[in-house]
Amino acid sequence: MRILITGAAGFLGSHLSDRLLNDGHEVIGMDNFITGSPDNIAHLASNEKFSFFKRDVSNYIFVPGKVDAILHFASPASPNPLSKSGYFNLPIQTMKAGALGTHNCLGLARAQNARFLLASTSEIYGDPLVHPQTEDYAGNVDPVGTRAVYDEAKRFAESLTMAYHRFHNVNTSIVRIFNTFGPRMDLEDGRALPNMLKQALLGQPLTVYGDGAQTRSFCYVDDLVDGIIKLLYSDEHFPVNIGNPIEMTILQFAEAINKITGNTAGITFVDARSARDPQRRQPDITRARDLLKWEPKVDLEEGIRRTIPFFKQKLGTA
Ligand code: UDP
Repeated sequence: MRILITGAAGFLGSHLSDRLLNDGHEVIGMDNFITGSPDNIAHLASNEKFSFFKRDVSNYIFVPGKVDAILHFASPASPNPLSKSGYFNLPIQTMKAGALGTHNCLGLARAQNARFLLASTSEIYGDPLVHPQTEDYAGNVDPVGTRAVYDEAKRFAESLTMAYHRFHNVNTSIVRIFNTFGPRMDLEDGRALPNMLKQALLGQPLTVYGDGAQTRSFCYVDDLVDGIIKLLYSDEHFPVNIGNPIEMTILQFAEAINKITGNTAGITFVDARSARDPQRRQPDITRARDLLKWEPKVDLEEGIRRTIPFFKQKLGTA
């Protein structure tokens, strides 16, 4: 297949590019680098099956030649207000990538009769009142809350995707991605793993926001990519959760990072990020198990071990 990936220079987009090229496909990458990095795709420059366009997907997109599939991954994704690359500081771009960007990609998919895959998110569940989150749970999102620009853009993107499927019969799919980590995460994006792994490798105390009782479930990137590719190759149209169902508190997560890295500087408790920080999050992956025969294989410790060399290289401590 000839596959367009928007956000190809991002954390997930670059791993997807690698995997699809390895599977023998041709990949057309697109990114405007507002949160992605050229470093993430530098190793693909000499690959003749990879081409790249620096574009903002919120504007009309044109791709020469046939396109068989489109993966729309372009969007800021970090909720940290302190991060320059987080959606808090890129609110309009975030809404445009989710709304106009999805519209442009769906238009291209329709014109090209291509399979379309939307990168959606556990954030569409907001601060969930149902636990664990199944795909039929409609969520608990404040449309004017601090996370709304991302949550509502992705909710709109899902609705638009289903409209193109139902009305124009476009072959669409939607993956709801839960917390994921691995090499090529932006060390400065302010999320839990980059913040804490960086702190641990520098011998600093780990910052836990609030009392650390809020929970998340962390998936290693190779597992996530595996699930997404299975969804792409399937003929499923309804949303599918992809993530690791092993739930832990953020305090347990911080303790695990200190243990694995041998960091003895401990933990510092700082102010909670906001009242809107989701308190519990765990994917119900029954659909992925049944439909895609998928489940994660890499445990947290192994995933962190595989991520450390990248962080050391970026920190200059390798
Ligand atoms: N968090 C933390 N310390 C940090 C960064 C994040 O305690 O240095 C917490 C944050 O408050 C949230 C969880 O870790 O409860 C996951 O945050 P992240 O930014 O990774 O993404 P989210 O899951 O909220 O989208």
